[in-house]
Amino acid sequence: MSTLNSKVPGGPIKDKWTDYKNHIDLVNPANKRNIDIIVVGTGLAGGSAAATLAELGYNVKAFAYQDSPRRAHSIAAQGGINAAKNYQGDGDSTYRLFYDTVKGGDYRSREANVYRLAEVSANIIDQCVAQGVPFARDYGGLLDNRSFGGVLVSRTFYAKGQTGQQLLLGAYSAMNRQIARGKIEMFNRHEMLDVVKVDGKARGIIARNLVTGEIERHSAHAVVIASGGYGNVYFLSTNAMGSNATAAWKIHKKGAHFANPCYTQIHPTCIPRSGDYQSKLTLMSESLRNDGRIWVPKSMDDVMAIREGRKKPTELSEDERDYYLERRYPAFGNLVPRDVASRAAKERCDAGYGVNATGEAVYLDFKSAINRYGKEQAKINGISNPSDAKIYELGQAIVEAKYGNLFQMYEKIVDENPYETPMMIYPATHYTMGGVWVDYNLMTSVEGLYCIGEANFSDHGANRLGASALMQGLADGYFVLPYTIGDYLSNEIRTGAISTETKEFDEAEKEVTDRINFFVNNEGTKSVDYFHKKLGKVMWDKVGMARNSKGLNEAMAEIKAIREEFWKEVKVPGEATEMNPELEKAGRVADFLELGELFAKDALMREESCGGHFREESVELDGEQKGEAKRNDSDYAFVAAWEYKGEPADAVLHKEELEFKDIELKQRSYK
Ligand SMILES: Cc1cc2nc3c(=O)[nH]c(=O)nc-3n(C[C@H](O)[C@H](O)[C@H](O)COP(=O)(O)OP(=O)(O)OC[C@H]3O[C@@H](n4cnc5c(N)ncnc54)[C@H](O)[C@@H]3O)c2cc1C
Repeated sequence: MSTLNSKVPGGPIKDKWTDYKNHIDLVNPANKRNIDIIVVGTGLAGGSAAATLAELGYNVKAFAYQDSPRRAHSIAAQGGINAAKNYQGDGDSTYRLFYDTVKGGDYRSREANVYRLAEVSANIIDQCVAQGVPFARDYGGLLDNRSFGGVLVSRTFYAKGQTGQQLLLGAYSAMNRQIARGKIEMFNRHEMLDVVKVDGKARGIIARNLVTGEIERHSAHAVVIASGGYGNVYFLSTNAMGSNATAAWKIHKKGAHFANPCYTQIHPTCIPRSGDYQSKLTLMSESLRNDGRIWVPKSMDDVMAIREGRKKPTELSEDERDYYLERRYPAFGNLVPRDVASRAAKERCDAGYGVNATGEAVYLDFKSAINRYGKEQAKINGISNPSDAKIYELGQAIVEAKYGNLFQMYEKIVDENPYETPMMIYPATHYTMGGVWVDYNLMTSVEGLYCIGEANFSDHGANRLGASALMQGLADGYFVLPYTIGDYLSNEIRTGAISTETKEFDEAEKEVTDRINFFVNNEGTKSVDYFHKKLGKVMWDKVGMARNSKGLNEAMAEIKAIREEFWKEVKVPGEATEMNPELEKAGRVADFLELGELFAKDALMREESCGGHFREESVELDGEQKGEAKRNDSDYAFVAAWEYKGEPADAVLHKEELEFKDIELKQRSYK
């Protein structure tokens, strides 16, 4: 085991980034024209990076497996994006955003990176407004904000429930300008299947044209991976169906350490699973917790009556409801961070209080908010003695303006009107804080190979606060990578064009082709989804919201067995030389089957509870925090970065010790 060098610059935290920028080497404009950069992924992280690098003058080749950058998973982001603008005058600042993010991440992130993130957050909003992103505005025309979990200020900028889509259109427009200028060559429907290293440096990729099946070689002076998160290792998640870990896993196998794979975010407000044949879960944005109150019935009789259809939730009086988050966490109430809210829902459902047929659902209720807004509107409109129905009508209009598209989505899926009856929600896999290890420069442990956005192990420690993923992806792409990569590329100005006719490209291409040929020729009997579902069940049952040593050991053995069966029994119909979605899936699931085992190994190693990683053996036994997660700072205040050694079980641990100089390490309390 070695200790990793994070390359964090010296000096006071508030000056680090500025000093760094003042002292790095730059590439002059004429030389930039001779340097090629590959960007894999054109979601918010990759799209913003590609546009900015091209604007700077580099030649960018951008890759995405969808038919357009506009379809990246980032489009699904609903709730908003954080920035320390303090437009509300409610006490926000760079320091407070930094503090909230480190605390929210349960003190498992790198201070210097988080401070930089908070520092550049304000620039992101200016950049996006300049691009024309239609953020919501308040009555005076200024940008509006709302609150997300784990914070006491309103700093979330939003565009109704479509923030990701609007931000992505902004980044896509910026990319298009560069595509038109010839500075970005866009490879849609191309999947990167390996990275090519020459003399230890990343020098290119092997990609498959997903329409023709052709295998292509692409070279560059540096490679940036922006391929998103790996939540689909659980099979069911709120991620887009195509989201996968292949690019990240392939670079891991070529020397990039994979950090904290066990840090997963299970989001508390998703539409509950409805049955065994479901392939996707749907998020109900966290922004709904601004106005929705979460509850289950107090009495088991009411639970049974609701499940059996003898009673409706709306028939229960206030006294008969247990608003368990408000009860347990009076300071933050329904706006506790996601990990806390998810575990609290699981606790109630495990205790038998779940309100749907599977016993895995709690209520998210807007009645109080609708009444509150309705009364306010009646006053504003000068309506004296409004009827209950009028108040409801007025309040509903406000809720509709704020969250209308989310309510509509819920109604379409569940076939119940959430304005009239409370939504049912349950936690689901949503985001992965773990990912490819990167230093302060966002460079992986392979020279010239960078990783940004959700694909890297990120700035969120063991738990991400809502609306901070978009902030991180865009900070990386617009404001951080364009500087750090220049410092590296300043040493590449004499390298010249990089040939793809070398033995390194030959070998990488052969590996890719052999694997594809194996899949299409294997005489198996079971579909790719059969194995993915099996993996997902093990992950959810034994490496899900709560984990213990016994379950994790079992999970490692079970995942290995599924993997072995996969390589014998998988059946991939169709050909390699055509569009073949089953073949695409096969490669991705093969990688999930390795990543899943490393995930369990990492969770087993971390014998503490922190953020999205809850170890049942590590719980507070008494005092005010009784029953809450128990962190162990003396033994586990480090980033676990795993080095690939063949079988996932053989991966070697490298530690990056985390130092907290600007924030005092404390027990996280939201009470
Ligand atoms: C339902 C939902 C709602 C969310 N809401 C919010 C929110 O309100 N606020 C917030 O901050 N965060 C939110 N998040 C999280 C946030 O959306 C993501 O973390 C973020 O968008 C990830 O951006 P990214 O650019 O890193 O990756 P992605 O948007 O996932 O983009 C990945 C890109 O990589 C490409 N790619 C992947 N693999 C390959 C390969 N092998 N070859 C070629 N291309 C490849 C894809 O084609 C795509 O272009 C939400 C997440 C979900 C699931």
